[in-house]
Amino acid sequence: MLRKKIIAANWKMNKTPSEGVILTQNLLKQLGDFDRADLVICPPFTSLASVNDLIKGHSHFSLGAQNLFYEKQGAYTGEISADMLRDAGCGYVIIGHSERREYFLETDEIVNRKIKAALAANLKSIVCVGEKLSVREDNGAETLIRNQIQKAFHDLSDEAMNHIIVAYEPVWAIGTGRNATPAQAQEVHNWIRDQIAKQFSTKVADQIRIQYGGSVKPENAKELLNQPDVDGALVGGASLEAASFTAIVKNSVG
Ligand code: PEP
Repeated sequence: MLRKKIIAANWKMNKTPSEGVILTQNLLKQLGDFDRADLVICPPFTSLASVNDLIKGHSHFSLGAQNLFYEKQGAYTGEISADMLRDAGCGYVIIGHSERREYFLETDEIVNRKIKAALAANLKSIVCVGEKLSVREDNGAETLIRNQIQKAFHDLSDEAMNHIIVAYEPVWAIGTGRNATPAQAQEVHNWIRDQIAKQFSTKVADQIRIQYGGSVKPENAKELLNQPDVDGALVGGASLEAASFTAIVKNSVG
């Protein structure tokens, strides 16, 4: 099945609002007319409004948030709801990034609640899964990722899965400069697709897009994204410069 590539920029806790405006303006100069992939910019919350103003009218650019809270509203100081993100112009939200699991103790149950909140607000979720190095070395990667998938997508319908993008991000490859090889990525992506077929259906598994994340750079993007089950990338460090993000997009999608 032909799945359109989706490449997302995760700025993490980088870029002030004014720096974010400059980066977005540069991205639009270089990629404003690029329509061969879906491009999602995920700045910090403080830049959502200004980035949205700039990308409006560029239909292949979408706005994404890096997190949300699953409650609808109320006394949750410092948190942001799905409806707030939707109203701020977001079409996507990253959920369950390994940094949130590690530093903010997010569990698979929390990830599941967040996905349901995103669905209720008509946001697409980029759901991150992936193993630490020690788990891989102990041959525990499949068990861990199977668990992450089963729990994250617990109780979701086949229709709901149309609003999900999976990001396979081996934790040992995030921000380390050490990417999974294209063969390693392909093997895990294909296996994830099988898990989704078992939990839902082959139709859901065929259509779902699975991004690879972990030290994606202009030099390795093409080979990674050429793999049949790699449907895009979630890019951290290399998304902070317009030139490197542009090169990743152009090198891998052509
Ligand atoms: C990420 O944060 O999702 C990520 C993959 O980071 P990096 O590209 O810097 O490894």
